[in-house]
Amino acid sequence: MIVVMKSEATDEQIEKVVSTIKELGYKAHVIKGVLRTVIGAVGDERGKPHHLESLSILEGVEKVVPILQPYKLASREFKPDNTIVKVGNVEIGGNKIVVMAGPCSVENEEQIIETAIAVKNAGASILRGGAYKPRTSPYTFQGLGEEGLKLLAKARQITGLPVVTEILDPHDLDVIAEYSDMLQIGARNAQNYALLKHVGRCNKPVLLKRGMATTITEFLMAAEYILSEGNPNVVLCERGIRTFETATRNTFDLNAIPVLKEKTHLPVLADPSHGTGYWQYVTPMALAAIAAGADGLLIEVHYKPEIAVSDGGQSLKPSKFAALMEKARAVAKAVGREI
Ligand code: PEP
Ligand code: MN
Repeated sequence: MIVVMKSEATDEQIEKVVSTIKELGYKAHVIKGVLRTVIGAVGDERGKPHHLESLSILEGVEKVVPILQPYKLASREFKPDNTIVKVGNVEIGGNKIVVMAGPCSVENEEQIIETAIAVKNAGASILRGGAYKPRTSPYTFQGLGEEGLKLLAKARQITGLPVVTEILDPHDLDVIAEYSDMLQIGARNAQNYALLKHVGRCNKPVLLKRGMATTITEFLMAAEYILSEGNPNVVLCERGIRTFETATRNTFDLNAIPVLKEKTHLPVLADPSHGTGYWQYVTPMALAAIAAGADGLLIEVHYKPEIAVSDGGQSLKPSKFAALMEKARAVAKAVGREI
C-alpha cells in the first residue's frame, strides 16, 4: 500500500502513520517529495486481521492506494520520479549517461592502473574490476581477493574514479566495502536472496545484474529484496539472458531497457560486453542501449585483451573504447542526453 499524505501534513502526522504501519506489522518506507510525502507500507498481508486501508482515517492522510505490482518499493507506482544513485561524486540516473569501464578481473598492478588511466582519459566515470570472480569452473582464476581490492583502491587514488567490484560471499562485505564505492551483485547471484538481503542492510550503492534466466519481474523482485532491507541505492544492469542462440554468448535483451524504465524508478544500465560476448558486437549494442534509454553502460576494457585471464574475447582495447565513447556521445545527444 502507498499512503499519500496531504501536502500540508505535519511531521507529527507523518510519524503517526509510520508508527501505525509498524504496529500493524509492516515496514514503512518514507519518501519526502517536493510537494508531499508518500509512505510505502510493505510486508506480508496474509493472516493479518488489520487492513492497511484503515490508515486513511489518520490525520494528514489524503489517500491509501494499493501497489498492484508484486514489487513495491521498486515500482514507479510507489515512486514516479527517477531515482538518482550517487557513487562517489558520480550521479547515476540523471540526464548524464554514466560509463563504468575496466577489466573483467583485476590481474596485477600494471594491468589495472594502465587500464584505469586509459578508460578515464576516454571519458569513463567509474572503474570496474573483479577481485572475487564467479567462474564457471573451480579450476580457473578465482580473482586476487583482498590484494585485488587494494589495487583497485590504488587505481582510484591515481585516477579519481570511484570503483565498483563484485561481492560473492556475505563474509567479504566488510573488506569489499572498505576498498570500493559500489558493490556488484553478478548474474549468478541475482536470486541469491541471502546475499541480496545482506547488501540491503549496508549503505553502499549496489549494481544488480540481471540473472541469465530471470524474467524482468523476477529481476525487479531481486531489487525489492535489497530495497526492502533499507538500502535505496540500487542500479539495475541488463547483461543478456540465455536463449537458444549460440552465435553470441548471451542474448542481450534490448527490450528490457524501455520496459524497466517504464516499470521502475531505479537507474538502468546496459552491459553489452557480457550481453554479446564478442568485442566486435559491443559498440553497436552499446549505442543501441543508449538509444533505447539506458542510463549508463558497463564495458569491459583491458589494456591487452589478448593476455586477459578472463573475458578477453569480449574486452575492448583502450583505442576501441575511446572510439565507442566518441560514437556514444553522438547517440546520447540525438536522444537528448549527454555523456
Ligand atoms: C562481470 O561483470 O565480470 C560478470 C561476471 O558479469 P555477470 O555477472 O553479468 O556474468
Ligand atoms: Mn567479465
